[in-house]
Amino acid sequence: MTDILEHEEVFWAQEELVPISALQHYVYCPRQCALIHVEQIWEENIYTLRGRRAHERVETPEGIVREGIRVEYALPLWSRRLGLVGRADVVEFPDGVPYPVEHKVGPRRARHADEVQLCAQALCLEEMLGVGVPKGALFYRASRRRREVAFTPELRAEVEQVVQEVRDLLQRMSLPPPVADTRCRDCSLIGSCLPFVPKTLADLRQGGGT
Ligand code: SF4
Repeated sequence: MTDILEHEEVFWAQEELVPISALQHYVYCPRQCALIHVEQIWEENIYTLRGRRAHERVETPEGIVREGIRVEYALPLWSRRLGLVGRADVVEFPDGVPYPVEHKVGPRRARHADEVQLCAQALCLEEMLGVGVPKGALFYRASRRRREVAFTPELRAEVEQVVQEVRDLLQRMSLPPPVADTRCRDCSLIGSCLPFVPKTLADLRQGGGT
């Protein structure tokens, strides 16, 4: 077992580390999170294809100064306290204060999944840089608009709760049942997940089958 992140008395083994992107998948749908991060299934739909193209610009780590503000692209992130690892699309530093900006393609995701992901980035930045990160923004490529997100105590607490739940899910390596609701419509994994297909004879009978 290799300990790669350490925080005071906390030691995280490689298999205990939680990718920041998994938080967003989990909040949207726990089954989607397990399919991607346990079963390693990934399928493209119009949003993932657009997203990949949109992220190409922010995939190479680099720093620039734009209109007098330092901007870092593809900044590696981690939290020793939470055992989190990932990367920020963009972090701006107006007045020296980190301001993460996550680029999004497609509609706003259900259950404020994007906000949880962005706040997790902020928690990492606070720990890495030793400064408060009170807010950040989600940038929607289609409308080219930013929506500012305040990192409230409630949102921070939710992130910490979700990190623990995702860690449990990844360790159990189990597949939660499908949510089978409107979220499936925009999910690229619907073809692998088959959320509306009865799995057993009992399901068929309950649904009125013979
Ligand atoms: S198709 Fe529905 S249940 Fe399946 S992973 Fe996607 S959102 Fe979740």
